[in-house]
Amino acid sequence: MNEFQQLKQEYAHCQRCAVLVNNRAQVVFGSGNEEARILFIGEAPGAQEDKQGIPFCGMSGQVLTSLLAAAGLTREDIFITNTILCRPPNNRNPLLEEIENCRSRLDQLIKIMQPKVIVTIGNFATERILDKTGINKIRGKVFPLVINHQEVQVVPVIHPASYLYSGRNPEMFQQMQDDFKVIAGIVNENRKQKELTGY
Ligand code: URA
Repeated sequence: MNEFQQLKQEYAHCQRCAVLVNNRAQVVFGSGNEEARILFIGEAPGAQEDKQGIPFCGMSGQVLTSLLAAAGLTREDIFITNTILCRPPNNRNPLLEEIENCRSRLDQLIKIMQPKVIVTIGNFATERILDKTGINKIRGKVFPLVINHQEVQVVPVIHPASYLYSGRNPEMFQQMQDDFKVIAGIVNENRKQKELTGY
């Protein structure tokens, strides 16, 4: 079993957050390509995700998948996880304590996957990775970060749930598409460099 699978197994029956343990159907570790160098981090599983065990498989997921497609990416080009792995009761916000309980898991995942790009979806993931708040001001900007001695480009984006809550505001969707163009640009640059250097 590789390190990724070991980490997944270690958290499959995690008991750190009593309230979440009692509320969840299952731990939603993540989905997509475990060898991807593009890591998307959302907030927390919702009702559908809790049922199916797959992040972003509900309405927000449909929006995310269409934004990815517009950027030339599929769900198999990336790996998606969340700031916390278990659904909060009634989809409330994750508590600070829950985010802290899941900190080592996300740190370990990043260490194992060594992503070149991390996309933080919404305020919780952005604060967790960048220690910055105010997604509307910083969305679509590229923040270079050194994690485990490796340079990572972090791009915060608006959470698709905010767009859905807005009644599908077309202006917001345009902003989201613009932000995903930034992501596509970084990915294409990385692909080009790989062609040049061979690794
Ligand atoms: N919203 C999230 O932040 N994560 C999911 O997995 C689904 C919806």
